[in-house]
Amino acid sequence: MASDSGFVIETEALCKAYGDIRALDAISLQVPEGSIFGFLGPNGAGKTTTIRILMGFTRATSGRATVFGDDSWQKGVAVRSRVGYLVTADALYPDLSGDDQLAFAANISGREPVWRDRLLDALELDRKVLDRRLGTYSKGMRQKLALVVSAQHAPDLLMFDEPTDGLDPLIQRNFAGLLRDFRAEGTTVFMSSHDLGEVERLCDQVAVVRAGRVIASGSMESLKRQYSQRVEVTFADAVPGGIDDIVGASLVERNGTMVTLHVDHDFNSLLRYLASHDIARMEIRPPELQEVFMSYYESEEQAAEPTASTSR
Ligand code: ATP
Repeated sequence: MASDSGFVIETEALCKAYGDIRALDAISLQVPEGSIFGFLGPNGAGKTTTIRILMGFTRATSGRATVFGDDSWQKGVAVRSRVGYLVTADALYPDLSGDDQLAFAANISGREPVWRDRLLDALELDRKVLDRRLGTYSKGMRQKLALVVSAQHAPDLLMFDEPTDGLDPLIQRNFAGLLRDFRAEGTTVFMSSHDLGEVERLCDQVAVVRAGRVIASGSMESLKRQYSQRVEVTFADAVPGGIDDIVGASLVERNGTMVTLHVDHDFNSLLRYLASHDIARMEIRPPELQEVFMSYYESEEQAAEPTASTSR
């Protein structure tokens, strides 16, 4: 169950300084119960630091972080008992067999490993290799085992720092399907990722951080809505006059009888204009996540904006 607010994770003005380095500069997040929440941002943005604070491994310099309503530092033990945390594959014990590592982790969690088989199946981790020492596993196999370790005991919240790093595309797809199933069963997922395709397919809500600040957040749809759509029109004859004068649409390319326009929100003037001409072909393309997020990663100005400013 989430806290009274309905959010499983809440942070408010969370700051973390390492000497002169401001790793987090007033991060505020709200992660709804039963959602898959994507936490994105370029290298060094503060994702791992946030996750470590939420897990109670690192103490914030100032601000507040709660998980299931509990302060993540003061009540770290209680928090960790409900969270499945993905340790880096390097943190597994190389001398243990896969079976022993799984048994050890299940013991520590104090819960039955009821999701173990579903995870092993989705990740296609052959049970025959589980009696081998982890030191002999490939990188991808270690990552798969780390995922089983983190989630096998059916935690209420899964906290993943780049869960599918090193997994092949087929396994990534299986794993995404399994996370959707877990969500349907009431689990909340908080995950950082650099894989935008994965985030787009999987996440209900996202927050983008840069230089320790949240620069955009909201549902995937709301973030995309802020970006213009691309309209390609091919006229039956020559491009009529007035094409670069339509309210709400800006002409970005002209090639023979074809034009490309960007439309922010208001299609009315464009539709009225087009209705009075012969159109051979028309295509409207929604903004792709890739485009939306690249602009966050690249734009220096937005780095200076601590709020969810998403216009361009
Ligand atoms: P990546 O995508 O590369 O994993 P990240 O978003 O997870 O990056 P963090 O690891 O949280 O970024 O790092 C945020 C900032 O804090 C970086 O500038 C990093 O150098 C700094 N930092 C993190 N841990 C420490 C530490 N223990 N001591 C000093 N600086 C640190």
